[in-house]
Amino acid sequence: MTIPLTDLSHDDLSALHQQLSSEHAELAARGVCLNITRGKPSPAQLDLSADLLTIDVPSHAEDGQDVRNYGGNRGLPEIRRIFGELLGVDVDHIIAADNSSLAIMHDLAMFAFVHGIAGQQPWSGQNVKFIAPVPGYDRHFAICEHLGIDMIPVELGEHGPDVDEVAKLAADPSVKGMWVVPMYANPNGAVYDERTVRALVSMPAAPDFRIWWDNAYALHHLTDVERPALPVLQWAEEAGNPDRVFELASMSKITFAGDAISFLASSQANLDWYLGHAAIRSIGPDKVNQLRHARYLRDADGVRKLMRAHREILAPKFAAVEEILTRRLGGRGVASWTHPAGGYFVTLDVMDGTASRVVALAKEAGIALTPAGASHPLHRDPHDRTIRLAPSFPGMDELREAMEGVSTCVLLAASEKLLK
Ligand code: PLP
Repeated sequence: MTIPLTDLSHDDLSALHQQLSSEHAELAARGVCLNITRGKPSPAQLDLSADLLTIDVPSHAEDGQDVRNYGGNRGLPEIRRIFGELLGVDVDHIIAADNSSLAIMHDLAMFAFVHGIAGQQPWSGQNVKFIAPVPGYDRHFAICEHLGIDMIPVELGEHGPDVDEVAKLAADPSVKGMWVVPMYANPNGAVYDERTVRALVSMPAAPDFRIWWDNAYALHHLTDVERPALPVLQWAEEAGNPDRVFELASMSKITFAGDAISFLASSQANLDWYLGHAAIRSIGPDKVNQLRHARYLRDADGVRKLMRAHREILAPKFAAVEEILTRRLGGRGVASWTHPAGGYFVTLDVMDGTASRVVALAKEAGIALTPAGASHPLHRDPHDRTIRLAPSFPGMDELREAMEGVSTCVLLAASEKLLK
C-alpha cells in the first residue's frame, strides 16, 4: 500500500530516508551521465527529415524570384501559404524569416525599445512591464531580463491565466506586453481556451501593448486529437484591436531545430512596422532554405504527416515519464505533475521548498535537470517547487533511468525536509 510521506511515523520516515539515501549513493557511484534539460528533438526525430539534406532545390520560386539572390523580405509565398494554412492565417498576414522565431521576438523587442510601436514613444528610458504567466519559457523571461523589462508573474492555469487579474494589470499603461504560449505551453502544457483568448484580445490596454503569441507548439500533438490553432488574429480584429497580437511560429521542431524557418503573423500595420525595421537589418531571408522546405513538405498535409511521425517517437517517451512518476511518486503526497496532450515538456511540482534540493541531488547522481526556478521570471520560484522535465532528446533507456533517479531524488528531498 502506498502511504503519503506525511502520514509516516518518525521511525518509518527515518528508515525510508536511509533507504533512499543509499539508493541515491548507489546511483551516484554508477557514474551515469543523463540529461533531461532542454527540449531538443532527438536524432531519430531529426532523421525524419533527412531528405532535406539532399533534395534538389530549383533556383527560382513560384513567383519567379531567384532564391539565390538578395531580396524578398516577406519570405516565399509557397512556404507562407503552407504555414498560413496550418495557423489559420491568410497568406498576406504571415511572413517567413530565418531559422529562429526567438530571434524575431528579440528583434521585435529591440525595435520597440529603439523606435517605439505604432507611433508611441520608444520603450527605452521607460519602465516597461510584461505580464508573464508562470510557469513559463525561460528564454522569454531572458529577453525581458536582458532588456530590463519588469515581469509581473500571473499563475498559468490549464486554460490560461485568470483573465480578470490580467485585465487589471493591462490597464496600467506601462504594461506593454504579455507572453502567451497558447498551445501546449512550455512548460506546463496549458492550452488556452476561446473565452480566455477573446478576453485577452478585447481588454483595454496601452496602444503599444501586444500579446506575444508564441505558437511554437501549434502542431505538436501527443495524441490523435489534432486541435486547430485558435484564430487569434481574427478574434483580435473582431474585438476592434487588430494590432493586439504578434503571432510567432517556427519549424524548428518540425524539421531541423538549427536550420528551419520562423514565421511572424500579424496585422498589416504590425507587419509593415516590423518589415520597415527588419529591412535595415537584412537584405532578405534564406530563401533557398525556404524553397527547400516548401519542396520537401509539399503542403500543409505534408507537415501534418511529418508531425504524426514525430508523435510516434515522442508519445512513448511521455508515456514512460507518466508511468514512472505514477509508480514511484503516486500517492506519496510529495509531488504532482502535468499530463500534457502536446508540446515538449512535463512540469513536475515537488514538495514546497525542495525543488533546488532535488536538482542538486540529481546532479550528484549524474542527472542534469533544468535549474530550479528556470520557469519563473528572474529564476525566482517563490515556492521553490517547479521543475521542468524535457523527455524528447534522450533515448528511451536513458530517459527511464533518469526518471527513476529523479523520483528517488524527489522522495529523498521530501523525506529530508519532513525529518527536519
Ligand atoms: N518558443 C517556445 C515556447 C519554445 O519552447 C522554443 C524552444 O524551445 C522556442 C520558441 C524557440 O523557437 P525557435 O527555434 O524558432 O527560435
